[in-house]
Amino acid sequence: MLVNSNELFNAALKGGYAIPAYNVNNLEWIKFVLEACQEDNSPVILAVTPKSIQYFGGYKVVYNVVNSLISELNINIPVVLHLDHAKDFDSCKKAIDAGFTSVMIDASLKTFEQNVDITNKVMDYAKKRGVNVEAELGVIKTDGYGINDRAYYSDLEDSKNFVIQTGIDSFAPSIGNVHGFYKENDNLDFDLLGAICKEVKIPLVLHGGSNLDENKLKAAVFCGVVKVNFNTDLMHAWSLAVREYLKKNVDVYDPRKIILSGEDALKEVIHKKNCMIGSKNRK
Ligand SMILES: [Zn+2]
Repeated sequence: MLVNSNELFNAALKGGYAIPAYNVNNLEWIKFVLEACQEDNSPVILAVTPKSIQYFGGYKVVYNVVNSLISELNINIPVVLHLDHAKDFDSCKKAIDAGFTSVMIDASLKTFEQNVDITNKVMDYAKKRGVNVEAELGVIKTDGYGINDRAYYSDLEDSKNFVIQTGIDSFAPSIGNVHGFYKENDNLDFDLLGAICKEVKIPLVLHGGSNLDENKLKAAVFCGVVKVNFNTDLMHAWSLAVREYLKKNVDVYDPRKIILSGEDALKEVIHKKNCMIGSKNRK
């Protein structure tokens, strides 16, 4: 069933684990993620970016597909439908109106004051409708580089003020984490993460969870992270399997067979991540 993430985050904080957020790109991925997490008895957050929503054909399409699959597949784990990295109020409004249960407003590239203003506008709309809001401060880069540059890290004092001035439900700090694969040694600052956790006193979100080893993920959870985002690892595993399948089966042209050839590889990654962050059997 579709739920708000507050209860999941509270349980995760108490239990010392995190909820996985998997980015989904099409109907099949939603199905694979739901089935794998159901098998693990793991709560799950289905994350959809505005670009993916455009690919699907709209907010309502995503909501209807997710809702229908939950019902048709008899999924009984808690599922959060989350808008990932929305850059403006309108995208958040559309997601909330369509039935999403959580949104992330990412105005991290704007000034601190603008970030606070736009986040407050989203909060105002979301809270009246029982929807959770996540926001970001500092810059989580997308190219796998730049992680040694302290200018991208969240500032401790700013983080505290940002959370006080917005009242957001969860906070995504930049602590050296990046989207995509880490192309240099990652330089995650767990001291900063722990200090932010102590100051902001709300659930923390770690973006860029792909190819971080179990120790790092566990350290992040120990420092107050209750949601870890995974995207690149899933896409990578799926595409490798499909490429291999097509190489071996040059005569296949049925798209169902092609898309399904990546299913096992994708699910294997999900099972691993659920174990690494401890969400397995936490339904
Ligand atoms: Zn992200």
